Amino acid sequence: MKNINSKRVFKRNSNEVRESGDYVLYWMQINRRFHYNYALEYAVAWANKLNKPLLVFEGLSCDYPWRTARTHWFIMEGMREHQQLADEKNYSYYGFLEENAGEYQSLFREFAKKSALVVTDEYPVFIMRKRNETLPAELPVPYYTVDSNGIIPLGHTEGAPYSAYIFRKTMQKKFRECFELPPAENPMDELNNTQKIALPEELTVKYPAANRAERYSKEWLKTIDVRQDIEPINLIGTREAGLERMQHFLEFDLKAYHQDRNDPDKEATSRLSPWLHFGKISEYEVVDHSLRRQPRDWSRDELVPQQGKRDGFFGGEPGIEAFLDEVITWREVGFHFAHHTPNYDQFESLPDWAITTLTEHEADEREHIYSFEELAGARTNDDIWNAAQRQLVREGRIHNYLRMLWGKKILQWTPDARTALDYLIELNNLYAIDGRDPNSYSGIFWILGRFDRAWGPERPIFGKVRYMTSDSTRKKIKLKAYLEKFGR
Ligand SMILES: Cc1cc2nc3c(=O)[nH]c(=O)nc-3n(C[C@H](O)[C@H](O)[C@H](O)COP(=O)(O)OP(=O)(O)OC[C@H]3O[C@@H](n4cnc5c(N)ncnc54)[C@H](O)[C@@H]3O)c2cc1C
Repeated sequence: MKNINSKRVFKRNSNEVRESGDYVLYWMQINRRFHYNYALEYAVAWANKLNKPLLVFEGLSCDYPWRTARTHWFIMEGMREHQQLADEKNYSYYGFLEENAGEYQSLFREFAKKSALVVTDEYPVFIMRKRNETLPAELPVPYYTVDSNGIIPLGHTEGAPYSAYIFRKTMQKKFRECFELPPAENPMDELNNTQKIALPEELTVKYPAANRAERYSKEWLKTIDVRQDIEPINLIGTREAGLERMQHFLEFDLKAYHQDRNDPDKEATSRLSPWLHFGKISEYEVVDHSLRRQPRDWSRDELVPQQGKRDGFFGGEPGIEAFLDEVITWREVGFHFAHHTPNYDQFESLPDWAITTLTEHEADEREHIYSFEELAGARTNDDIWNAAQRQLVREGRIHNYLRMLWGKKILQWTPDARTALDYLIELNNLYAIDGRDPNSYSGIFWILGRFDRAWGPERPIFGKVRYMTSDSTRKKIKLKAYLEKFGR
């Protein structure tokens, strides 16, 4: 078998391989890419071991929380790109867009029944986590989940890291070993049995592939039960578009990232989170390409653990070091935390000090209380906040610095922290194209104290939780262009 770090692989039931199965099934749930994908690579290795062909199944349910035309269209564009690639390379790929709730999972079960085993994506939150926990028990074949999310495999941590500092310590110790076992660029090239799989007609008629049923269109999208008022945005959900964005960032903004990342007017962050979220590009590629831009005399031998301190580990260009801390430490701490925390989306998963202080300040008077509808409609008395909310509604994103302020104000304007949490999750996951991600929960729960420490002096409503105001934001960052764009 291929040399994939065993800490990436989770066997989710005790079934034996069905030797008579027609194929190995790779169910592409969230890391929606054919390249640099450990799960696909693992499926290919199994197919080669059993000398079977590989069926790649990618689908989209129409029955999931926070379903919108925005998210659907982004995924659909990526699936259409996969269909084109599969046609060109003769891959056995089945792209399915569900029209009626339940069809997608029924089709998956049918495909699984005829397989020798199932390999799919390990993912610690949202519907993928639930599916990976419940489906394996129903199937007659082995069900493997493989972690292709980040550099440090989820199996490497033994418990939930409660701060970025703790996780960074592990990351610094393990980085080199993990980075030097990279995912294959194109695992499908390694598949031995490339025979095209003939699927039973009763299945392909009952559950027609998206291209055959002509579903890759905005007209079709309008016919299904998703929030149509949350419209597609001006971002293309393909791997090609994600790679273009990455190249642009590397070329023009990476080197000054440490200086410009907090400046909303400059728009100098990578803006890669939508493509990272849907797995269109891998974190490995982003890190690898960033490291290639270190100065010529830089080498991996300079990677000496710094006891969890950020500065000095990657060294080289300060922009690269700052960026890698976000894309590795801050991105992955959320994955590892959720992996070890079944109630990752509940108030009770906050650290004890945060629960205590927020509860103690529950009865504090709030100057303004806004309803969910007022917040969603950007109807508050705060022009910066309204601008951030408008950006979220229109573009499906908020600049990171303002995203922090956006969250902190919601805590201030709701009757209690639990209501704030409900609204934050709802607004973020409904409108943000990168929502429903482990980082959604990192960011939202950070507002309430996760991955942070207690701060003094104690303040009304926030207690010891870190405090932010629009006035301090106005003083700290330039917002002229931002307010011109989203002020109305
Ligand atoms: C209230 C709140 C909600 C958030 N919701 C989400 C969300 O739904 N999805 C999401 O991906 N991120 C979320 N974040 C984290 C952060 O805002 C975004 O990851 C970042 O703004 C994405 O923009 P970028 O790709 O240009 O980031 P860059 O600055 O270019 O960073 C590169 C990558 O590093 C990771 N990253 C950067 N900053 C953070 C961070 N603070 N925490 C975790 N990972 C980070 C992301 O994967 C990002 O794409 C949230 C933060 C807050 C405060």
